[in-house]
Amino acid sequence: MKKILSLTIIVSVIISCLFALSSCDGAECNHEWSEWRTVEESTCSKGGYRIRECELCGEQARSVDYPTDHTYSDEWKYDGAAHWHPAVCIHTNQTSGYELHNFVGNTCSICHALKASQGLSYRGDLALGTYIVTGVGTTLDAEIVVARYFSGFEITAVDPEAFSGVAGLKSVWLQQYITSVGDRAFANSPDLVTVTITLGTEYLGSQLFDGCDSLERVVFRGLVEEFYAIEKAEDWDSGASGYIIECFDGTIEK
Ligand SMILES: [Zn+2]
Ligand SMILES: [Zn+2]
Ligand SMILES: [Zn+2]
Repeated sequence: MKKILSLTIIVSVIISCLFALSSCDGAECNHEWSEWRTVEESTCSKGGYRIRECELCGEQARSVDYPTDHTYSDEWKYDGAAHWHPAVCIHTNQTSGYELHNFVGNTCSICHALKASQGLSYRGDLALGTYIVTGVGTTLDAEIVVARYFSGFEITAVDPEAFSGVAGLKSVWLQQYITSVGDRAFANSPDLVTVTITLGTEYLGSQLFDGCDSLERVVFRGLVEEFYAIEKAEDWDSGASGYIIECFDGTIEK
């Protein structure tokens, strides 16, 4: 009898121990989870994580979040071949939507870049690692577009007289990276009707349109106020008259 009693005690001790153990390890807990709480926000560099806790047993669970996408500019950037949206986060070498231009006629239907003229002549500025356009070279285009790049380097200036005395030349479009236009750059081109310059231009040289008898429009892709703010040679517009300077927000008569 004593034996049975002690056996019963041992068994019940074991059972209660097992029971205690099972509630100790939480296996029997019907977890009641808190809301997820963000411990580390995801960024485009690194994933973050959130945790939640059981309000009964204190067990924690963790959920790992992926890094977020980079943020990109809404504006297109482009070169002679392609356009893309540049990243505006710290990953400035990332791009979105990189594609070759879809030229319809002379203009990309997506980013509105113009097809660059082939065969223009250039000289390199070794100190700056840039190119300066010096003339029409071998191009026969009546409508010239100076691109952003030549041989992988930026074209940043127009040489003095680069497009002067060119019969049959109807228009010249300088894209936005060209900051300086040299003296008499277009002078005495008798058929020149339109010259387009773009925001980013910092200097206009002397007598640019001297003797350009057909000149009708200088298109400035910026505001009137921004056009006035460009540094200019005192006689930048002497020798030409009867044309207009067309800005986004108004027109200046000459
Ligand atoms: Zn629990
Ligand atoms: Zn990024
Ligand atoms: Zn394009």
